[in-house]
Amino acid sequence: MEDRATRTLEVDARLAELYPGSAAQLCALAFETPFQLLVATVLSAQTTDAMVNLVTPQLFARFPDAEALARADVEEVEALIRPTGFYHTKARHLVGLAQAIVDSFGGEVPQALDALVTLPGVGRKTANVVRSVAFGQPGLPVDTHVTRVSRRLGIARATSADAIEAELCAVLPSDHWGAFSLRMILHGRETCTARRPLCSACVLADLCEARGGFG
Ligand code: SF4
Repeated sequence: MEDRATRTLEVDARLAELYPGSAAQLCALAFETPFQLLVATVLSAQTTDAMVNLVTPQLFARFPDAEALARADVEEVEALIRPTGFYHTKARHLVGLAQAIVDSFGGEVPQALDALVTLPGVGRKTANVVRSVAFGQPGLPVDTHVTRVSRRLGIARATSADAIEAELCAVLPSDHWGAFSLRMILHGRETCTARRPLCSACVLADLCEARGGFG
């Protein structure tokens, strides 16, 4: 089998053909500003993008920007986001991150990864979503799908999200990172599913180390 870097670049090329578009075009979350994408991404933990898109119109109508959400009553935010689950924690994080953006960043979402991860409830995954989708900056979010598909393919060997991000970023061009992540997520949802991957229908099968290992 070809070396790992070559296979990684080929995976990138094939998924780009299967799922064309930029990171902004591939992202299923509805938003109009970087702040709204940040909020939507925090809300997307442990739920679907469709569920997030159901609650954000009301949330953004009431609290359209960081200034407004920084002054919000946490209980009112909880009521608006309740269907997304974990709403106590999410509401606290949302009001807290809005306050931090107002207090430390003049009301504008920062673009630097180091700054984004200082915000409450924002880890590398969320920060990389905001960087790549809202700002068109390099950022490769690693979620459960990116982890599973990368490891099955054998284009990443690490187990932690941070280490997998580093392995993939070492090979892929930085302007591909965000779209690559979103394409791997789509492939993980539609074909390389957790329980029953559809290897016989997979466009990556000849590149994959795990192919055929699922009975
Ligand atoms: Fe996943 Fe199977 Fe495709 Fe490999 S061949 S990426 S295990 S669906």
